[in-house]
Amino acid sequence: ETFTTWYFTEEEDIRKLIKPRKRFDHKGNYGHALLIAGSYGMAGASVLAAKACLRTGAGMVTVHAPLKNNDILQTAIPEAIVRHDAHEFCFSMPVYPDNYTAVAIGPGLGQSEETATALIEQIRLCQEPMVLDADALNILAVHRNAMNSIPRGSILTPHPKELERLVGKCESSFLRLTKARDLATTYKIFVVLKGAYTVIATPEGNCYFNPTGNPGMATAGSGDVLTGVLVSLLAQGYTSEESCKLGVYLHGMAGDMAKEKLGERGLIASDIAENLPAAWIKLT
Ligand code: AMP
Ligand code: MG
Repeated sequence: ETFTTWYFTEEEDIRKLIKPRKRFDHKGNYGHALLIAGSYGMAGASVLAAKACLRTGAGMVTVHAPLKNNDILQTAIPEAIVRHDAHEFCFSMPVYPDNYTAVAIGPGLGQSEETATALIEQIRLCQEPMVLDADALNILAVHRNAMNSIPRGSILTPHPKELERLVGKCESSFLRLTKARDLATTYKIFVVLKGAYTVIATPEGNCYFNPTGNPGMATAGSGDVLTGVLVSLLAQGYTSEESCKLGVYLHGMAGDMAKEKLGERGLIASDIAENLPAAWIKLT
């Protein structure tokens, strides 16, 4: 039986986590994030995540994408390195992770058979905490055995539907919460259950509620931005727990700052990524 402590994150808790940047630092001090994302027709998911990753402060970002998405990525984000898969349309070739400080996989990935096989192998190759989102979670829901090879301390970022695919249908939001927590303790991972008051469930079974964010963020691509934020923080040397708390807070805050300028209805996911710098300024 797990004993859960429930927490509500406050801004002063977050401020304490932020590491200063030093005068003589260079990009090597801020990590190299690898983002495996975007099948053909979903290049946008990888663009959003990569932008958010850079806007959160990673030193370097490499996107691994299907061949057909290469030019889109190179045009949309000149700051990112693009490493393309042999497959034209989807992820099919696991990437050797040791050249990167942190790895995220999932946004717009698709769920083809080749991709499922490559994902399972990718998870096996990774030894350090990684970020798993979107179709990576949908594939895991089908290939349940692969859950056992997820590195301890990894961060899973399901929205309620994705969580239910992993843990089964939930009759109430409270049951969803307890199942998210049980998933976190069982696999020794962080489960970020997204929505209003996103909950971070820790491997110890504690739960942190995040206060930032607004319904304007209920729009396509918002979650892809969060994945970029989280892998950026991991790459910069924040622990998984710090990355979850700071990342979720910062992402919601960027959404709140976008809302101030644009309102809830006209807000799109790119606006969240573009307001990350303003959110950082407000926090530091
Ligand atoms: P996804 O469904 O993967 O695109 O993720 C949606 C993102 O937007 C998550 O980070 C959610 O926490 C956030 N979001 C969506 N709806 C709301 C809401 N009503 N209030 C706060 N954040 C939200
Ligand atoms: Mg999503």
